[in-house]
Amino acid sequence: MRVSNLDPDLPLYRQKHVQYLKRGLNHLSQTYECLDASRPWLCYWILHGLEMLNVQLSEEEYAQTADFLRRCQDPYGGFCGGPQQIPHLAPTYAAVCALCIVGTRQAYDVINRPKLKSFLASCRTAEGSFTMHRDGEVDIRGAYCAVVAAHLTNIMTPELFEGTAEWIAKCQTYEGGFSGEPGLEAHGGYTFCGYAALVLLGKPHLIDNKRLLTWVTQRQMRLEGGFQGRTNKLVDGCYSFWQGGVFPLLHTVIEASGDGHLLSNEKWMFDQVALQDYLLMNCQLHQGGLVDKPGKSRDFYHTCYCLSGLSVAQHFVYKYQTKLILRAELQPFMKVIYRDDFDRAINSSAERFRDSERKRFLNLEGRQRRISRGKRKVLWLTFSDFQPLINAREIALAQEQEVDNSCCRKRQELFPMGAVKIASVPLKQYKPEDITIEIYGDMVTLHGKHRSERGDGSDTGEFKKVFKVPQDVDPATVASRATQDGDALIIVGTKRVEEKTDDGKFEAKFDFSGFKPEKIKIQLHGNELSISGKNTSEEGGVYRSRNYSRRLLLPDNLVVSSVTSRLSKEGQLTIEASRDPALLPSERSVDVIMETDETEEEQKASRSTQSEKTEN
Ligand SMILES: [Zn+2]
Repeated sequence: MRVSNLDPDLPLYRQKHVQYLKRGLNHLSQTYECLDASRPWLCYWILHGLEMLNVQLSEEEYAQTADFLRRCQDPYGGFCGGPQQIPHLAPTYAAVCALCIVGTRQAYDVINRPKLKSFLASCRTAEGSFTMHRDGEVDIRGAYCAVVAAHLTNIMTPELFEGTAEWIAKCQTYEGGFSGEPGLEAHGGYTFCGYAALVLLGKPHLIDNKRLLTWVTQRQMRLEGGFQGRTNKLVDGCYSFWQGGVFPLLHTVIEASGDGHLLSNEKWMFDQVALQDYLLMNCQLHQGGLVDKPGKSRDFYHTCYCLSGLSVAQHFVYKYQTKLILRAELQPFMKVIYRDDFDRAINSSAERFRDSERKRFLNLEGRQRRISRGKRKVLWLTFSDFQPLINAREIALAQEQEVDNSCCRKRQELFPMGAVKIASVPLKQYKPEDITIEIYGDMVTLHGKHRSERGDGSDTGEFKKVFKVPQDVDPATVASRATQDGDALIIVGTKRVEEKTDDGKFEAKFDFSGFKPEKIKIQLHGNELSISGKNTSEEGGVYRSRNYSRRLLLPDNLVVSSVTSRLSKEGQLTIEASRDPALLPSERSVDVIMETDETEEEQKASRSTQSEKTEN
């Protein structure tokens, strides 16, 4: 079916979909009456659909949407299915995501965060699961909605989600997918919600990831190319996202756990072209809108999730590089939907809060900072980027450091020589000694436990946070230190050194991007090579300082006189030397600075010699 009927001119009916979605924002037909209790969902499906098609609405349209959502908020916290209804976790998720997409101060101000927090707490059960509304039924979607709402509004606390990840893990069935609550049947929607929540909570290792991979790969239909929701069910366009959206998260987690060899480096672990064929050929209506399967009528839900699935199917991100995956013969006609600020675990963009002052109150500022470090691509799927425990105070502190002229000094305290910051964990009531760090492969687990006795009993608290050591950092060097005020724990590590010692040659590479050659100092003591650099820069009133230092034991049979250094345009410092078993390291070359106790004149002289030797 999929192959014989291939339309070579298979485009995305972008304009038609945009018209369909935009119309829905202002006018809904009678058939939507049944969704009267899902009105924030309609806002979210439409707004997210439009942002995937790269459409901006007018300020007025955004303002109207924000105002409508304001009327859906319960005075005691949380959002209702419509004005005057009862607050419920599902529309709460939809409303918070929709307001993030609107992204104005007015939209932000709609959310009553303290009340939202108490609403979430009121839905929490003792074991850590969530009921969809007060006294309602427990459902894994409730946990996901609560995690996302708390994450986006930065009201996440360890207490609020104590036991939640463990409860979600119990929902993984023998098949590998997740059910709505423990003991039921695995299902695509529950699987995405459960797994994305685990990712956001930093605990995807609690489940059997390989079994999940097996289950989710088997849900793609061989003939149609689309996904089914459950074993023995028919294909449905919306599962393009509920199942398809699991792959990017799973890819990251499995890779981080050291099982990367199970995965492809070229694509997600499903047939991405086949899914696109199904969506573009069978799920699009000429008049706009996308559907479950041919013969079904269009709706905003399927439009949103078919487009979301298409976005996953068209983009593969590996090591921060986005690779476009399209059927070769269709490329000229294919319209790509992709925004690199999409958060795959949340399925919406969270970057559009335009008012910088407000940003810091949400979790967004932290993300923004990471963007400016030139790693935009990281955002949309690496879970290590999510810092559930990050709080507004830490964000404010970090901002201060960036802006304050004295930040050079502060930063030096935070970042010891040569170390790069991997994570920062606010300590709150914990003392540094309450926290243990375990490093397994490139996964770091922080475990905090504290107990304080009081006259009327005792206070105990516990948290666990797992994150991945960046690829360029040597896990063996990971260490932690508390900030001077004891407010946060900074996890640092040192960049890996690439070494090659074959072919009778020795070569080591160091990352000195951003450093000027004259700021790099290389010294040899016997066969110990030490390299240090200091770099300060000013850009737009922001002062930055970076220190770097590495020690390296050179092989015994190295010809010391042959040691040379080069600095490439990209900032890669290469140390090279030849090896000769017959030679002893008895000589030292002039282009290497010797001994720390030399005079300043000598240092200057040797430094200039060295900078002449370096390229560019
Ligand atoms: Zn469906």
